[in-house]
Amino acid sequence: MTLFRGTVVDTPDDPFIGGVLRVEADGGLLVRAGEIVERGGFAQLRARHAEEDVVDLSGGLLLPGFVDTHVHFPQVRAMGGLGMPLLDWLEQCALPEEARLADQPYAQAVAADFVSGLAQAGTTTALVFGAHFAPAVDALFAEAARVGLRVTSGLVVSDRLLRPDLLTTPERAHEEGLALAHRWHGVGRARYAVTPRFSLSCGDALLDACGSLLREVPGAWFTSHVNENALEIATVAELFEGSVYVDTYDRHGLIGRNSVLAHNVHPTDDELQLLCRRGASIAHCPTSNAALGSGIFSLKRHVDAGVRVALGSDVGAGTGFSLLKEALQAYFLQQLLGAEGQRLTPAHLLHLATSAGADALGLADQVGDLGVGKRFDAVWLRPRPGCTLDVALRTASGPEDALARAFALASTADVDSVWIDGRPVPTDHRFAGSVPRAAAVPSPRR
Ligand SMILES: [Zn+2]
Repeated sequence: MTLFRGTVVDTPDDPFIGGVLRVEADGGLLVRAGEIVERGGFAQLRARHAEEDVVDLSGGLLLPGFVDTHVHFPQVRAMGGLGMPLLDWLEQCALPEEARLADQPYAQAVAADFVSGLAQAGTTTALVFGAHFAPAVDALFAEAARVGLRVTSGLVVSDRLLRPDLLTTPERAHEEGLALAHRWHGVGRARYAVTPRFSLSCGDALLDACGSLLREVPGAWFTSHVNENALEIATVAELFEGSVYVDTYDRHGLIGRNSVLAHNVHPTDDELQLLCRRGASIAHCPTSNAALGSGIFSLKRHVDAGVRVALGSDVGAGTGFSLLKEALQAYFLQQLLGAEGQRLTPAHLLHLATSAGADALGLADQVGDLGVGKRFDAVWLRPRPGCTLDVALRTASGPEDALARAFALASTADVDSVWIDGRPVPTDHRFAGSVPRAAAVPSPRR
């Protein structure tokens, strides 16, 4: 067993319904075979377990691993395309890059960049929008398995209105999806997600094939996009003869507890009620919404309607893998909404980046907080000595203040170490194999 020592901060109880931040200022977590078996003050745990190895993570903050509920594997090299609304950005930036993943060596290189990017950001669990090509999705699952990430993903399908090399048919979508699910669903930490790109590019026959696949793979997830951009929504309404967007999925049995829809910036009240009834979740992607000028997400309407919400980076429309940045951007946008905004404390931000995502993905019994019985999926934020975040953390009035300062200032460069199931994850693939670095005495930062 290993005893981890540090300032442990997490949100086992939902702050949107009265939960508060849980803090161990000088805490201990006893980990056996990847599971947290005891938690408490370090001194007490040390006294009871004097013989166990100690990993000292004092200084900085020890947080649950981040959970990204919406991120595109083929877009890691398409970030930074600014100044375009959604449909132009897709055509000019995202889709030409996605088409390159037909080349398998290219797809494998992108998979390595992508998984490394998630790990470097402290993301330990992700619902990943896959590629339009089945072998590229294999490459993603294989790389995630190699590094150890908890990934739910699948083949992205479309049968209209995109460039021809990204289109499929309902029959082929079903056949390739089923084969991928047989290869990967439930293997290690991998799970399959049925993934039509969005209703705009998917006709009813294809969405119906997606519904069949979802029913045929027990425990599979469903993910897609919804209500992101005004022109997109109007086009969907036209294509589906006036239907509201959520209904275009729901009529094929795609909306349920295992569903995560990205964005929902412009929902109707009926759609929110339907999402609540079905138990579905929304992946809120605030940097993407701002970068594409999609609109400001009404978190308050979702919370009031009882709809589950977690965070997504939406790389590559989003501006990076860091869920610390997404949480801060979510906070900014709610502030800008004034009286219509949802008040967010550091506990809300941590919840959105960790336990809310675990709940959205049905993994809350395993990950999302650092309580007894959970897997040790964790991130140690430890800034370089003397940098502004280091000064901010050292002068914070307590762990909650330190957490607020971390959301304000931290970047992926401040992610010192990451663990999944108690095992260190390489956070920089150029140096893969050099971990574990955390030792009894914290080593100087590279
Ligand atoms: Zn997206």
